[in-house]
Amino acid sequence: MDVAMGIGKNKGIRRIDPRRPFTVNAGGLKRIVLGEVGAGDDGRRRLLIQSQSHQTAKPVRLAADVAPVKCLLAVAHSDRGTLDEHARQAVAAAALLADDVTEVVLLVFGDLNDDIAALGADRCIVLPQYGNHVFAPEAELAALSSLIEQLQPAHVFIPDNGIAGSDLGRRLGAAAADASIATCVVEIDKTGLAAYRQQGQFLARRSLANIILLEIDAVDARLPFLGRGQVADKLSAALAVAAGAAASAKAFLDLGCKTMAASQMELEEADFIVSAGNGVEDVVLFNSLANALDAAVGASRVAVDDGKFKRDKQIGATGKTVSASAYLAFGISGAVQHLQGIKDCRHVIAVNLDASAPMIKRADLGIIGDAQELMAALLDQVRQARNAAVAS
Ligand SMILES: Cc1cc2nc3c(=O)[nH]c(=O)nc-3n(C[C@H](O)[C@H](O)[C@H](O)COP(=O)(O)OP(=O)(O)OC[C@H]3O[C@@H](n4cnc5c(N)ncnc54)[C@H](O)[C@@H]3O)c2cc1C
Repeated sequence: MDVAMGIGKNKGIRRIDPRRPFTVNAGGLKRIVLGEVGAGDDGRRRLLIQSQSHQTAKPVRLAADVAPVKCLLAVAHSDRGTLDEHARQAVAAAALLADDVTEVVLLVFGDLNDDIAALGADRCIVLPQYGNHVFAPEAELAALSSLIEQLQPAHVFIPDNGIAGSDLGRRLGAAAADASIATCVVEIDKTGLAAYRQQGQFLARRSLANIILLEIDAVDARLPFLGRGQVADKLSAALAVAAGAAASAKAFLDLGCKTMAASQMELEEADFIVSAGNGVEDVVLFNSLANALDAAVGASRVAVDDGKFKRDKQIGATGKTVSASAYLAFGISGAVQHLQGIKDCRHVIAVNLDASAPMIKRADLGIIGDAQELMAALLDQVRQARNAAVAS
């Protein structure tokens, strides 16, 4: 463990372990992930933070000296500053179909904190005043139509997600008289697309339409390259004006979104879950932490069988399948039956004493340490942050 943290024990010489975890940023720079060492009660426990994202530097798709002459447009709605997997796939579809003189432009309704280059976009226009929390279809359509008029994209890619994307895409199809539209697209390549899948069969095939509404998993969002990742502020300002004019017509009254407490939410719908396994001894501390984080509570089967949690909290093959953006697992080994229930979770953070536990291997961030110590420290930090926020 000492070696993993780069500390020479015997001679007091500080050594850097060349195999330390690292991530690669959009510019291809390698960043070592720092950890913190601390001896526990037994003198053996150490806290080691491991990142699982050992990526290699990716090339930028468009050569630096190329001035693009064509454009593909991807459109997405963000949720709390991030694009979900389905939206990422729509951007990836544009990036995968773009040739070496075509730029990929991404229009995002809502805030965006994601790495634009990693999404595969060359230029990005963000309209933070819209997004999944606002119902403003006319305003969004006005902004999108204005952008299409300026850029003349060959194709527009939108996730067919049953909510804002589907609505906007169909409105665009109805408004653009000359444009062709394909909905429920389940397969796509440069030669054409297939729509609707039933019993393993496609219902229809056609050439690439102007407006393409993609079903989830039609495209793999893991791209082998990066986009240029530029932000187009001037375009954002112009589109905001176009959208604002349409919004003033006030055809709809937006009733807004109500935020439910995580404890009232079904686990399947929760976006942030903290989950306990057999390694959690202090259930009161665990519940206090979940409460302070406003996260939904989940548990492994062993923790449920022990009577620490009710059966409806069990996650896994014989429990619930969850798809949270963040899944924070304390003292869960990561048995295959448990992992089955979290396969759709986006970011998994695992705390475990055992660095070789399957849960640590599955996690995007693994913390080797005692669950009780980590929970207490985290609760302390959350309370301090909350108090500071209230005081300011
Ligand atoms: C048919 C079938 C269906 C099943 N369905 C499910 C299911 O739906 N869901 C499910 O979860 N399981 C299910 N299981 C059970 C599954 O195989 C595992 O037994 C179970 O998931 C283990 O739970 P656990 O990881 O909490 O406990 P353990 O296997 O006991 O692991 C505890 C982990 O906590 C760590 N640890 C211990 N102390 C600490 C500490 N102080 N701090 C930090 N870490 C610590 C340990 O290193 C270990 O990795 C099923 C099994 C079968 C056969």
